[in-house]
Amino acid sequence: MVLGALEAGGTKMVCSIGNERAQVLDKQSFPTRAPEETVPQMIEYYRGKGIEALGIGSFGPLDLNKQSETYGYITSTPKTGWINYPLLPALSGALSVPAELDTDVNAAALAEVSMGAAKGLRSCLYVTVGTGIGGGLIVEGNLVHGLVHPEFGHMLMRAAAGDPAPDGFCPYHKGCLEGCASGPAIEKRWGKSAKELAPDHPAWTVECEYLAQMCVNAIVSFSPECIVLGGGVMQQEHLFPRIRKRTLELLGGYVRTPRIEREIDSYIVSPGLGVNSGVTGALLLALRAAQAK
Ligand code: ADP
Ligand code: ZN
Repeated sequence: MVLGALEAGGTKMVCSIGNERAQVLDKQSFPTRAPEETVPQMIEYYRGKGIEALGIGSFGPLDLNKQSETYGYITSTPKTGWINYPLLPALSGALSVPAELDTDVNAAALAEVSMGAAKGLRSCLYVTVGTGIGGGLIVEGNLVHGLVHPEFGHMLMRAAAGDPAPDGFCPYHKGCLEGCASGPAIEKRWGKSAKELAPDHPAWTVECEYLAQMCVNAIVSFSPECIVLGGGVMQQEHLFPRIRKRTLELLGGYVRTPRIEREIDSYIVSPGLGVNSGVTGALLLALRAAQAK
């Protein structure tokens, strides 16, 4: 079965062709410019390749309510031109194939639970720490949408000791997770790109404090069986042991389960699919769309 996958990002649109085993066979990226320019390029890419369905993991916020008149639209994004853009109907209509849309992080969570670090589990939280911070959640085998969809990056944080800019940088909430711990927040706080900070820089103690607070909030709110941390900032592998240690400290022994008390090394982990969680998840969404046909 030939399936199309789209990883729709604020910087680039990554279009891929794959199969029902979520293997990627071809890939091409287009810079995210105005929809009038970029959407025809994507349609041109998929056209003639014989795809049976399209799966889309997208930046948001998105309207994912299938009963809504604006289902499949990007809603209130800061990316002008894409506000209220009918992403799913535009692509599905032009290509005449069924399509399934979810947030980029829900797609990644689906991939990790199906064939990555959380394989075989019924729940998983996938968090990307990059230009922004977002979280995708699977609980009891289902992708969580709820009222709109979770906005994990905007949970409020408690100021970290040693943070020279504890107010945070989110234009909406200042000191939310994204405002405190995204790549751009690190850069604003320390005046240096996250990539250039040495592992012993105090920046990382502050970063681990915020990410550990997020893990604690997630554990006590949703009780996921696995927390996968991806995105550019998590390329700093030295963060993992520190986040695990701080998470245990902040939990204070309250949540008693071997998975956390003894197996935290396999509980808070990097993506099993590496940088391919997004495309794999989009192919799995395409497969769902094909099967629902
Ligand atoms: P995006 O979120 O735009 O999809 P990324 O997940 O790559 O892309 O995140 C980009 C952010 O991650 C930037 O702020 C960058 O500074 C940071 N980043 C990328 N690579 C690294 C690295 N190796 N170490 C620390 N930070 C990084
Ligand atoms: Zn915020």
